[in-house]
Amino acid sequence: MELWTTEQHKDMALGFRTTKTLYHAQSPYQAVDIVETTRYGRLLLLDGAVMTTDKDEFVYHEMISHVPMLAHPNPKRVLVIGGGDGGTVRELVKHPSVEQVVLCEIDGLVVDSCKEFFPQIAAELNHPKVEVIIGDGVAYMANDAKGFDLIIIDSTDPIGPGEGLFTEEFYRNTYNALNEDGMMVAQTESPFVCQDLIRTIYPMYERIFPIVRMYTGHIPTYPSGFWTWAFCSRKYDYPLPEAHLDRVREIEKTCKYYNAELHAASFVLPNFVKDLLKQPISIQ
Ligand code: SAM
Repeated sequence: MELWTTEQHKDMALGFRTTKTLYHAQSPYQAVDIVETTRYGRLLLLDGAVMTTDKDEFVYHEMISHVPMLAHPNPKRVLVIGGGDGGTVRELVKHPSVEQVVLCEIDGLVVDSCKEFFPQIAAELNHPKVEVIIGDGVAYMANDAKGFDLIIIDSTDPIGPGEGLFTEEFYRNTYNALNEDGMMVAQTESPFVCQDLIRTIYPMYERIFPIVRMYTGHIPTYPSGFWTWAFCSRKYDYPLPEAHLDRVREIEKTCKYYNAELHAASFVLPNFVKDLLKQPISIQ
């Protein structure tokens, strides 16, 4: 009998032929499952939603990290909310300018299970520059976070524990936790599947940050395969300044998806996405 793992997302489903179940646990926040699939290797699901896989994790983790890190002239302190699989942290510590990465992940089971079953993704969670806090990112942002150059919201979908990471109060706290030239990046789901979220959250970002842009990437194991991130900045914008290109060339050599040309191209949006953001189709 063939075994399949299927993610049901709203009125869609995505299936993965599965050879075995490696891990299952119920934390106070969510079900944590890790399975072995024939096409994407090991796959992490939280409450049945695909979070990351061996074979395509590099797209998401490179794009959520290097686009803002290389847009900033000298990022030293970075905060990651969520990100318990460690992939974003692994990419961040590649940058020589980094002095400290704080990871605030609500579920310790995610960290522990990813260290065990995704050693190449969780590789740098024990890095000397990395501080892992097991706690709610909403509370951390409200009470403790300050003096960051970059804040990355590497969260689950806006349901369950992730819901509080999509509110205006949370993002106003995020703005205040940034240095005056800081920036925030958040994963903002798919423009094919989550139009309502995109229609509401980008105007909210624009009420808080002076510079708000969307960039995109292709992640085959996420609903629709077309993903977005919000680039919200207190000072620096895109495209990449010439002065940063040496750093970019060093980082892109270590990447399987990110490069300088793709950095710029990822901010170019299809018409239907411009419509969602109420942007003019043609650039005046
Ligand atoms: N790359 C994935 C994606 O785009 O769906 C997300 C990666 S990571 C696994 C998402 C993490 O956010 C989960 O480990 C989850 O436990 C964590 N999380 C959800 N709500 C949180 C909260 N309020 N504070 C901190 N971490 C939270």
